[in-house]
Amino acid sequence: MARDYYGTLGVSRDATPEQLKRAYRKLARELHPDVNPEPEAQERFREVSAVYEVLSDPEKRKLVDLGADPLDPSAGMRGAGGGMGGDPFGGFGLGDIMDAFFGGGGGGGRGPRSRVQPGSDALIRVELTLEECNSGVTREISVETAVLCTSCSGSGCAGDSRPTTCDTCSGRGEVQSVQRSFLGQVVTARPCPTCRGFGEVIPDPCQKCGGEGRVRARRTISAKIPPGVADGMRVRLASQGEVAPGGGPA
Ligand SMILES: [Zn+2]
Ligand SMILES: [Zn+2]
Repeated sequence: MARDYYGTLGVSRDATPEQLKRAYRKLARELHPDVNPEPEAQERFREVSAVYEVLSDPEKRKLVDLGADPLDPSAGMRGAGGGMGGDPFGGFGLGDIMDAFFGGGGGGGRGPRSRVQPGSDALIRVELTLEECNSGVTREISVETAVLCTSCSGSGCAGDSRPTTCDTCSGRGEVQSVQRSFLGQVVTARPCPTCRGFGEVIPDPCQKCGGEGRVRARRTISAKIPPGVADGMRVRLASQGEVAPGGGPA
């Protein structure tokens, strides 16, 4: 099933990159999910975007002109693990298109993220006998986890020192760069590499935790499992998971 690349965009085979771009922009404006929520439109938007990605790449376009179908998942890519052909967007990044067309809705003005985040959960598998399932049981479970650093109480700072505003991003937590793309200039923001998006840095990190605010430790937790549990059920033990970087709640 050879795909009609040029037909999908409605251009002739000798279309210039400029004509391709114009055709794609026109279709994208009609079909973009924010404008047209119809499932068929979304399906076509995916197809059109994928086709444009191929034709805008001179190497891939050459393949198409030779009669190949780079979007056919059965052509190459398979074998080494399967699902490579599954993502119809490839590496194109729908976010890029959305940001470019719609002024980066939600992209701007995030500001620095908090250094203190909730910790991640730990999921631990426990095997019970049939009697234990019926009657309920209390189990001692040993977990490798992260606990609050006692030296700095989670602040990550040594002694009485405090975090300071990051010089690289002036505390905004992100740095902006201007890129040229087929839509003209696009300003993109990425997390600041110096402070990792936190907007502040720790000039004098706590020696015990290295500024993390937490240290790894093995803990024993007493898990009370109620009577009547079945295979696959989960019992939540609030505040018993990992303490997060920055000393965030477990
Ligand atoms: Zn920064
Ligand atoms: Zn510490």
